Amino acid sequence: MYCQRCGRELKENHPCPLCGIVKPTSDETKKCKKCQLPIPVNANYCVHCGADQAILNDNFQTQPAENNSEKNMGKPLDQMTQAEFQKLTAEIDQKIKNGEISSNLIVINTRLNETPIPTLSGSVRLIIKDIFKVNKAMGRANFFLGYIGVSLITLFFLLLIQKIFNQPMMALMQEAYLIKHPMLAVILLLLLLWYVITTLTATIRRYHDAGISGWWIILRFIPMFGEFFSLLLAFLPQSPKRKYDFKGKIDSDKNK
Ligand SMILES: [Zn+2]
Ligand SMILES: [Zn+2]
Repeated sequence: MYCQRCGRELKENHPCPLCGIVKPTSDETKKCKKCQLPIPVNANYCVHCGADQAILNDNFQTQPAENNSEKNMGKPLDQMTQAEFQKLTAEIDQKIKNGEISSNLIVINTRLNETPIPTLSGSVRLIIKDIFKVNKAMGRANFFLGYIGVSLITLFFLLLIQKIFNQPMMALMQEAYLIKHPMLAVILLLLLLWYVITTLTATIRRYHDAGISGWWIILRFIPMFGEFFSLLLAFLPQSPKRKYDFKGKIDSDKNK
């Protein structure tokens, strides 16, 4: 089975990992130019054999048969780096913009996370890359892995500072001690800012992904349990009605 939008080979009855669920806009069918089986009228690629329907009939006779499906399969997704994955999705988006492949298909994006396979390091890289961004969405796995990663990095630096100054953190944070060591005060402030900004903007992006307002971030400012409450809310699953995706604000005119 092949994705009718991007031509990628799929497991039987699985949505395309790049496009999501792709459905034809009507029940009308056409014959595949290569295998002659019926396919949706606006399919870019044959769902049965993966043949590119934009290629003219005559070209098929002169082309080696295996070429067509092979070029669309590429590397398996779980072996792809984040950069390769983004390049591939960008290529498909560009093809649609150029009109090379039809966008006249219903596409329901089912990707839950921005990275193809959410890992700790990939999620940390993502959370750092988007440190100052709130106008997009963040998937649940990417969010929690990124949050754990940022916390571990912060903890590492705190332990390192304790080791360097050879004092427990509680003693280091005394006002009198900080006045005596202004450099330490600056480092601690930077560490606090790094932690708060990365996790604060990530939480807002996670709320956008869950289809709720980013302003729920005010929960974070409740004394004592604020961060706990804000994290509880971040467990909400991705909403199909969300206004932001992994690229930014969803352009609602596009679907009209
Ligand atoms: Zn696809
Ligand atoms: Zn075919």
